[in-house]
Amino acid sequence: MSEKTIIPGTERGKPTIVAPPEGHTGSGFFATTVEQAIGLARKNSLWPLPFATSCCGIEFMSTMSAHYDLSRFGMERLSFSPRQSDLLMVMGTIAKKMAPVLREVYTQMAEPKWVLSMGACASSGGIFDSYSVLQGIDRVIPVDVYIPGCPPRPEQVIDGILKIQELAANESLRRRYSKEYEDLLTKYKID
Ligand code: SF4
Repeated sequence: MSEKTIIPGTERGKPTIVAPPEGHTGSGFFATTVEQAIGLARKNSLWPLPFATSCCGIEFMSTMSAHYDLSRFGMERLSFSPRQSDLLMVMGTIAKKMAPVLREVYTQMAEPKWVLSMGACASSGGIFDSYSVLQGIDRVIPVDVYIPGCPPRPEQVIDGILKIQELAANESLRRRYSKEYEDLLTKYKID
């Protein structure tokens, strides 16, 4: 039987102990940078806003439930208010009529924020290459991580979330004020 790989701090039924960031340790002290400490806090307290319009949303529900237990990643608190969330998870077919609503939700979220596109429909329109379906949410908002599949399995969703956590942990505190980020938002005509 192969040995199961367990991500540190995510074992089910055990208290979650998050690994410390890189730093200097000695007798009775531990020192790290402010950036790493904030990255650690952001990484382990993501509040997702589930923007679910169809079947991928149902798959996400199973990812949230007891078997896959997303709360191991500090994410049991779903937020349905954009002002109190920092991870927009878009799951399902997005009709062109829905695109301005999605954009509005995105703009109402405070910085720093990340976007996860779950499944073929949200990422590219999926099989619905029709006049009414948006052919990928990145036509209206910037996306950080894409999860392929129709629908993606919960393991894939967890993998996507781990990638978002990696981005959150390692993001420079100055990134949101950088010219590069400003240019990205300008490209999407977001102030
Ligand atoms: S990607 Fe597949 S499962 Fe997900 S919303 Fe589209 S059709 Fe449904």
